[in-house]
Amino acid sequence: MPKVKVYSTKQCPYCRMVKAFLEKNNIEYEDVDVGADTAAAEEMVALTGQYGVPVTVAGDEMIIGFDVPRLTEVFGAGGREEEVFDVIIMGAGPAGLTAAVYTTRKLLSTMIISENIGGQAMESWAIENYMGYRMVSGEDLMSKFEEQVRNLNIHLELDRVTGITRKDGTFLVKTFSDRSFLARSVIVATGRRPRRLGVEGEDRFWGRGVSVCSTCDGPLFRDRDVAIVGGGNAAVTAAIEMARIARQVHMIVRSTIRADAVYLDRLKEHENVTIHRPFTVSALSGESVLTGIRIRNNESGDEEEIAVDGVFAEIGHEPNVDAVRGLVALNDGGEIIVDENCRTDSPGVFAAGDVTSIKGKQIIIAAGEGAKAALEVQAYLLAQ
Ligand SMILES: Cc1cc2nc3c(=O)[nH]c(=O)nc-3n(C[C@H](O)[C@H](O)[C@H](O)COP(=O)(O)OP(=O)(O)OC[C@H]3O[C@@H](n4cnc5c(N)ncnc54)[C@H](O)[C@@H]3O)c2cc1C
Repeated sequence: MPKVKVYSTKQCPYCRMVKAFLEKNNIEYEDVDVGADTAAAEEMVALTGQYGVPVTVAGDEMIIGFDVPRLTEVFGAGGREEEVFDVIIMGAGPAGLTAAVYTTRKLLSTMIISENIGGQAMESWAIENYMGYRMVSGEDLMSKFEEQVRNLNIHLELDRVTGITRKDGTFLVKTFSDRSFLARSVIVATGRRPRRLGVEGEDRFWGRGVSVCSTCDGPLFRDRDVAIVGGGNAAVTAAIEMARIARQVHMIVRSTIRADAVYLDRLKEHENVTIHRPFTVSALSGESVLTGIRIRNNESGDEEEIAVDGVFAEIGHEPNVDAVRGLVALNDGGEIIVDENCRTDSPGVFAAGDVTSIKGKQIIIAAGEGAKAALEVQAYLLAQ
């Protein structure tokens, strides 16, 4: 195995996931903090052309982001487990981790299969509405969740579930790394993923100026000009944080800003934030890296160019349901339809958190729904 290097920043939750993945697979690596070390950041850009972390380099292989399928291809191993778990929980965000605490306390044999630990909450700069904390970073809060789960007897697999089928009264759960696991019940807690801009060239500039994680990649844009696309809480909090790091922050807002008053007040304190409203990003420009965006006025149709080195899409999320399509009923928004007790229309399959039709998409709600799903799993298994 050639020498492995992980280019990371301290704030980046996905960097931590890459390192955890390598450690789990006993792969030695060198950790390079490009947020703190400017020369190392330049080395990373020169070597990889990337303005986003994590980047993992092993010989000729270069893996961008916490890409479980690619990491598994390069470092992981396949296999097949024969144990039948009482429950397999898909996803280790607030919903999945809380569900796991409850199922193990009910002495149910539990496996979690998740692409990362912590979920979306890891991307939050500051959480001010989770009880017990006046303010806490997403990473710190989710580390507490993880710590609580690590003390329990839970099988945790960092992998992506690709499909679930029924097999002789159990569920056969298949993963990307070609493993299969059996369980008597399933909790789907796969949450949501960030929506992409949908502009031509987005893939070309991915990690080369285009990002959906300002918490991760923000430090690489110190004293540069960036754009934040969106007008909700996530966009406004990203703009506040980037205003401290970048030289100039352009907010591209499609219609109106719909964020909490507390965030709006803080945004106004920053003179280096310009709000462009009502505008949509219509094009990306640059050669090997992003150097600018074109924005279109949604009322007049007029277009203008803005020179930026980075653009962060903070325009909402879509549910992660690919693995359960066809197994459970979905609503028009692609969310799993659940009743008030987290039951889906498929007996033995439960769902909790942001992936479901429950309206509130918040950590405290997801955690509560995870607890409910676990209790319902216990009732279901007792009745079998
Ligand atoms: C930038 C940002 C800031 C936020 N700030 C706040 C805040 O201040 N307060 C608040 O209450 N909420 C906040 N939220 C919302 C909050 O993070 C979510 O409501 C919460 O994380 C939902 O938890 P969840 O467990 O349902 O899903 P997620 O957190 O999305 O977790 C889903 C998990 O499932 C995994 N997964 C997905 N697909 C698969 C698959 N096929 N196989 C295996 N694993 C899979 C993912 O890797 C992840 O671990 C914020 C969200 C964002 C993005």
